[in-house]
Amino acid sequence: MSTRTDLPGPVAGSAEVPQDAPLPLRDDLVGRTPYGAPQVHDAVQLNVNENPYPPSESLVADLGAAVAEAARTLNRYPDREATALRTELAAYLSRRTGVPLGVEQVWAANGSNEVLQQVCQAFGGPGRVALGFEPSYSMHPILASGTSTGWVSERRAEDFTLSAEQVVTAVERHAPSITFLTSPNNPTGTVVPLEVVEAVCRASTGVVVVDEAYAEFAASPSAVTLLERHPRLLVTRTMSKAFALAGARVGYLASSPAVIDALRLVRLPYHLSALTQAAARVALAHADELLGTVAAVCEQRDHIVDVLRAAGLQVVPTEANFLLFGPFDDPPAVWQALLDRGVLVRDVSSGPGLAGWLRVNAGTPDETTSFLNALREVIR
Ligand SMILES: *Cc1c(COP(=O)(O)O)cnc(C)c1O
Repeated sequence: MSTRTDLPGPVAGSAEVPQDAPLPLRDDLVGRTPYGAPQVHDAVQLNVNENPYPPSESLVADLGAAVAEAARTLNRYPDREATALRTELAAYLSRRTGVPLGVEQVWAANGSNEVLQQVCQAFGGPGRVALGFEPSYSMHPILASGTSTGWVSERRAEDFTLSAEQVVTAVERHAPSITFLTSPNNPTGTVVPLEVVEAVCRASTGVVVVDEAYAEFAASPSAVTLLERHPRLLVTRTMSKAFALAGARVGYLASSPAVIDALRLVRLPYHLSALTQAAARVALAHADELLGTVAAVCEQRDHIVDVLRAAGLQVVPTEANFLLFGPFDDPPAVWQALLDRGVLVRDVSSGPGLAGWLRVNAGTPDETTSFLNALREVIR
């Protein structure tokens, strides 16, 4: 029996490490800054493409009841497969696109960003590359980097469109394991025609991700209609934008069952909390009410486009709930001047191919008025 009572000292012969030594941060993360737009809560927030309409009181009551019910069994882990939620997401997507989809073709996670990260974990990784067409959603390269997936990008045309020829050439040149297409594209609002998506699918041995975060605002058809013919096609969606549920963190994906099985290999066990699953299911049951705001948002978007063009600014044609406008000699100064007047837009001008541009999303009629009045003062 040991009788030793003193505290352990250094092991004989070993060098002692200074306890203020630098953290062993990965070399590729040194000097990086975290992703994220400024959060200024007392401003008119038109910078992160949210739906401006909060849930109705009756939806709040239903959400509360469903979350309370889920709370009764919070001592237990949630359904690891989120089967009920995925079944309802499949039914929703089928209703919207006319494409029959089963639960085995749909996956869900905490925001489509988590879905996209799982895609990078399953299909990317060291020695592989992901391809994007910039300017586009700046989280795609960040998710690639976080999963040690190489990132290669090609520039979109001057008008931010993509041709089948351009994307096929890029796929042949880079042989990507993952190709990202964003439609409608963030931050430009432009859509990728389905012929282009199909051309990429036909040219790729890797997976092709169409990020459709803004699909419910778009008039153009969804890439979901191509799933049957292209088993390596993945279409990601989110409840954060048109669905007005950004705070709940729910994103999903439709693809072939083999892709869903691959994502199961990298997902954390029980990644979707019981509370999230319960809230998302209630929101889906109120899909018509939640999406009832889409027409109003698109109307404000079109109004902003008209007013800005009449004021002599350029606006990129958009099918999303936001628009890119400019050009400005000093976009950060315009951004600041708008914020000084209480309106927060997104300064995207430091991004690839975006010099001179700012992005604003459509809000309520009052928010639109605040934005347009502030901009009139600033560009006067
Ligand atoms: C907002 C956005 C997302 C969604 O993010 P969530 O994680 O679902 O909130 C995904 N892709 C694009 C292009 C976006 O703009």
